[in-house]
Amino acid sequence: MASAPLSPGSTVGILGGGQLGRMLSVAAGRLGLKTHIFNDAPEAPAFDVAAEKTVGAFDDPDAIARFAASVDVVTCEFENVPARTLEIASDACPVHPPAKSFEVAQDRLVEKTFMDSLGIAVAPYAAVGSLADLNIALTRIPPSALLKTRRFGYDGKGQMAIHTLCEAQSAWEAIGEAPAILEGMVDFEREVSVIAVRAQSGDIRFYDVVENVHASGILDASRVPTPLSESLECEAKKIARDIAEALGHVGVLAVEMFQTRGNEPGLAVNEIAPRVHNSGHWTIDACLVSQFENHIRAICGWPLGDVARHSDAVMTNLIGEDVNAWQKFATEPGTAVHLYGKSAPRPGRKMGHVTRIRPKT
Ligand code: AMP
Repeated sequence: MASAPLSPGSTVGILGGGQLGRMLSVAAGRLGLKTHIFNDAPEAPAFDVAAEKTVGAFDDPDAIARFAASVDVVTCEFENVPARTLEIASDACPVHPPAKSFEVAQDRLVEKTFMDSLGIAVAPYAAVGSLADLNIALTRIPPSALLKTRRFGYDGKGQMAIHTLCEAQSAWEAIGEAPAILEGMVDFEREVSVIAVRAQSGDIRFYDVVENVHASGILDASRVPTPLSESLECEAKKIARDIAEALGHVGVLAVEMFQTRGNEPGLAVNEIAPRVHNSGHWTIDACLVSQFENHIRAICGWPLGDVARHSDAVMTNLIGEDVNAWQKFATEPGTAVHLYGKSAPRPGRKMGHVTRIRPKT
């Protein structure tokens, strides 16, 4: 049910203090809202731009209860928030997105089953709870296939490719013998995502579909527009709508998909994220209202903002040492530089991004 919009001056509580929390906080500030960031480590990019901060464990019931009692709404910048944490927070104030969105996004098996229930295509998959299960699954989904942990996988972590049957045992050991799924390798033309935002009223909007290029399992670049046909673009948005509505989602929802190859190109969902997403960073510079602002608007009960794209855009992540070239990027025309305030540029660490925009084609 839609509640009265939070007034400017209200405080948004954000669980998680990474770059997503930082960009949410900046967007909230533009609307006259304050943020209180809760993070489990004292060094957090979002702390630099928040009115209040709490360092605590995400599963500490007392700390979470105190935090939630101090804010007007709670949201999350990462999906692996414990279910109990969301429950405790919701005793004190509204929490958006809903617990159901997290439950589905946190577990690859639940996620795939959920997509099946909506008639949405996904890669062929099988549940794996033991090496014996894996060997049986490989008879139905032959190599090459991917073994992915059901929970806590991200940026290509928690997954192993199996190219021959002999690799089954080593892959099972490499993922720590954790509950997993075996996924068939999708033959895809490109990877795309839809950034949707759904308001408490049920109003739903979609940013233009974006194409994503990964390197070593980590997002390297996102570009918009994509070469997708108009009908596939509509289909992608319809998939995102069906998912968001079935979840009763409020806030930004990212849906990552494969454009499959073949005579009849189609779409298969890879995964969803119940939060603002790296593949939506371009919206800060190429749209009037970014994914971050629209997430804040949605969770605060505000009307959604304009998602129209005014420019073409290519967003490139600055990973590890890439960030050292920030001065060069800062002189490039048509380029917006975003740095996350992280001190150590470790390999694989997202340090910032640049968005290059040009007039819309
Ligand atoms: P994920 O952690 O599921 O997002 O996977 C990271 C990346 O691995 C994806 O963005 C794809 O590039 C690739 N990938 C994941 N699953 C599959 C699949 N079933 N078939 C082909 N490539 C995949």
